[in-house]
Amino acid sequence: SIYNLGSINWDHCYRVSHFVRPGETLMSSSYQLHLGGKGANQSVAAAKAGASIVHIGSVAQGDNAPQKLQSLGVTITGIREHADEATGHALIQIDDQGENAIILHAGANRAQNMQWVAEQLCEAGSQDWLLMQNETNLIVESAELAKSKGMQVAFNPAPMDRELTLRLLDKLDLLIVNQIEAQDLTGTDDLDAAIAQMQHMAPNLALLITLGSAGACHCQGSQRHQVKAFKVDAVDTTAAGDTFIGYFLANISAGQPVSEALRQASAAAAIAVTRAGAIPSIPVQREVADFLAT
Ligand code: ADP
Repeated sequence: SIYNLGSINWDHCYRVSHFVRPGETLMSSSYQLHLGGKGANQSVAAAKAGASIVHIGSVAQGDNAPQKLQSLGVTITGIREHADEATGHALIQIDDQGENAIILHAGANRAQNMQWVAEQLCEAGSQDWLLMQNETNLIVESAELAKSKGMQVAFNPAPMDRELTLRLLDKLDLLIVNQIEAQDLTGTDDLDAAIAQMQHMAPNLALLITLGSAGACHCQGSQRHQVKAFKVDAVDTTAAGDTFIGYFLANISAGQPVSEALRQASAAAAIAVTRAGAIPSIPVQREVADFLAT
């Protein structure tokens, strides 16, 4: 299985004529509520790719986000109801120019409990993966626990915290970054130099670097696999990276070779960018298979 210690957010999206000003009360012209968070997005992508995925996280008491995730194929026994915290949420203003202004409250996402995490991992072993992003607490502790159980650990440092990521490197099997995160981590925008630097810091680590419309690259030791992005009409790249990560890890944990996992992930992410939204844009395995067949 894949265990994903990750965020669960509600995104409250308000259309406004302009961003609210100090002291002003502003009526919105429309409202939409979306389930999101990098953690939830990646769990859904892995589930849609056919993986057995256990989401570890926490929400406010009575919140129905877990039921929604379950309906999308995610195992939700690892989601704890927190008595004193709100579910993570974002208040997103979108103005007439399409610009946004966001308040993000991490709430229950940053109030994970180590005993709870340990209980969820009690049966996990060397066949299993622990996946994490940087939207929860307990990342180092959970990585250490997972390694002590022989699990494989994947980390997507989004949002990037350089110090935390450097501290984690020797506990990771797979580090997944986009171009901006690779640059923030290494200080260079030259891909080869960034890879060389990361490999110098952690020689045994596998690196997966997504490159937007330029595709993706996987490196481990002297082995390098590259995949081009499929040519599609992109309408909304939200959750492209999350789709890629969920699909890649689902395929790797199912025993697929890196080249095939990259191909599947690249196709899934290409489909996702042709659709609006985050979770609703993530394709199921059947759609990916059809896409690759045409
Ligand atoms: P993030 O969403 O984290 O910024 P990227 O921008 O690197 O991540 O995108 C992740 C993956 O999504 C890419 O590796 C690629 O496979 C796919 N992708 C992103 N943008 C496009 C695009 N315009 N056309 C086709 N595929 C895309």
